[in-house]
Amino acid sequence: MFSGGALCRWLPGIFLAFLSLAACGAQPYRVLVLDQGDYSGNGQVTDLAALRAAITEILPQSVEVYSEGLDLQRFPAVEHQMRTMRWLREKYRDKVFDAIVTVGPESLDFAIRYRREFGLATPIVFSGTEKYYIGRLALPPGVTGVAMVSSISDAIELARKVIPGASEVVILGDAESQSDYLLDISREFIEANVNQQINVMTGMPVSAVREAISHLGDDVVIIYLGITNDSTGQYFLPDRLLAELVTSANQPVFVTRRKFMGSGAIGGLVADSVDGARELAHIVRRVVVDREDASAIPVMYLDTRRPAFDMRVLERYRVDPERLPAASEILYQEPGLWERYAYQIVLVTAVVIVQTCLIFVLISEYRRRRRAEMKFRRSMFDLAHLNRTAALGELSASISHELNQPLAAIMSNAESMQVMLQANPPAIEEASDVLADVLKENQRASDIIRSMRALFRKGEFAPVACGLDQILQEVIRVLSWHARSKDVSISVEAGEGVSAVVADRVQLQQLVLNLLMNGIEAAQQASPPARGEVVFGYRSVDGNSVELYVRDNGPGIRRELLGRIFDAHFTTKDSGMGMGLAICRAIAEAHGSRLDVQSAAGRGARFCLILPAALPT
Ligand code: ADP
Repeated sequence: MFSGGALCRWLPGIFLAFLSLAACGAQPYRVLVLDQGDYSGNGQVTDLAALRAAITEILPQSVEVYSEGLDLQRFPAVEHQMRTMRWLREKYRDKVFDAIVTVGPESLDFAIRYRREFGLATPIVFSGTEKYYIGRLALPPGVTGVAMVSSISDAIELARKVIPGASEVVILGDAESQSDYLLDISREFIEANVNQQINVMTGMPVSAVREAISHLGDDVVIIYLGITNDSTGQYFLPDRLLAELVTSANQPVFVTRRKFMGSGAIGGLVADSVDGARELAHIVRRVVVDREDASAIPVMYLDTRRPAFDMRVLERYRVDPERLPAASEILYQEPGLWERYAYQIVLVTAVVIVQTCLIFVLISEYRRRRRAEMKFRRSMFDLAHLNRTAALGELSASISHELNQPLAAIMSNAESMQVMLQANPPAIEEASDVLADVLKENQRASDIIRSMRALFRKGEFAPVACGLDQILQEVIRVLSWHARSKDVSISVEAGEGVSAVVADRVQLQQLVLNLLMNGIEAAQQASPPARGEVVFGYRSVDGNSVELYVRDNGPGIRRELLGRIFDAHFTTKDSGMGMGLAICRAIAEAHGSRLDVQSAAGRGARFCLILPAALPT
């Protein structure tokens, strides 16, 4: 059945080239992959799927890959091999293969043994075998491939490094396929002159192996090469069996294949089953597409072993990570905080950064506003001072009139005293009564001057407890003549249990002065027969605060003006500056309060603000 393909390859080169060209369009290249396993890939040195993928990638599109799992380990008998061959012959009756690719040593044996059936000239490209095995074979012509370098002495050396003081090595492997290999190992060791006791446990039932490895001494390490058949003929999936064996073993188990990692083995110098797939596909390409003679292509020996360890098992046997080779790969590490919560950490950090930026912006904004407020307040204070000076200027007639009264009284009392003292005998008693009057009037005059000085003062904003009665008296002293001259009375409504507020004394006086002056001016226009009247009042709001108000019975404020009277420069008076209420509101705000007004046309106006009550002293 394969003779047609064989014939083709015997034709002269030029004719072959012509045929190949013709085949490019019509007939695809055909490759048959013979896996010694059962398609599962368990225990294979080379991964079948990786191999197929590499062949289809590296060969031209017109390649057809057929694969068969011969299951030679589970069915090692020659009868099974013959049955399998008969079945293959029937199945591929019409197919001509350009190459046979074998996976595993037993399928290489199979392909060589039944080569005639595939056509003697069909090249064989092997994979999934180890160097020691190929070295022992006398390869027939037309056979090449990729073999993996493995060395049990390297594995033992690594195990001894990782577990210091290990003086005995137990090797677990297949009785059938690895016994020769293990013999070689012993030889390798004897030649290397390694002082190491080696206990090769093959050719035993797995149950006996399990029992033996459960009570090993502290100086023993185990190397597991993979078991597919034990001495009773039972078939095993090598990685599943490993998982069972490690639960029995009381000493760490080293392995040689990456496929065995994760089953409880500690690790070792491991080769990956996908390694070498691409190298093999390149050889297949040279044989199938370039028509190179397989015998002329040297076998490729690959060493892809790398030290890899299972962190969980390292911890169980308390292995110091310092003992591992420098380039070791550590698998199954517990993810760190960062690996576990990277998303959350990034999110929280971002939120914190954004928040910090926001806080920073808010603080600088707050500081900026504070600075602006301070500046505004300072200029407001300057303005307020000017406003006071102007008010006192306006009140100068009132002040001089107020001062005149005590001065005139002092003068007339002094004259009376002179007369009394010049009398014979001098009227000492009467004179001393008059002198008391002089002193009283002098006190009155100096009170007026003190009130004026208090209003003229320019100082820093300093809230203190201010007695409301005293404040009012000081203001009234400079205002009373002014009010009288306008025929307006000033009265007080003192709330019960309230006597003082916390405020800046000068500013509070100015606020009261401004409101009273506005009130007097408005009350002056009270509709007759009513007399002009201004009331200064205060009352407790909730025990902690005090409402201060100034009320008049003037014409009130028109509704449409209510929103504008606190604006700077707003005035309805011919000679007004429009600064009085603006300053009053700024003073209220500097105290954390707000100056409000209630008014209805023809029914007077009521200005009020709330200040914190001062604790009674
Ligand atoms: P000015 O007194 O220089 O006009 P103010 O800021 O003190 O400046 O007052 C602004 C305006 O508010 C006044 O022109 C007046 O129209 C109105 N106003 C203030 N107080 C009263 C009041 N008690 N009754 C009626 N209108 C008032």
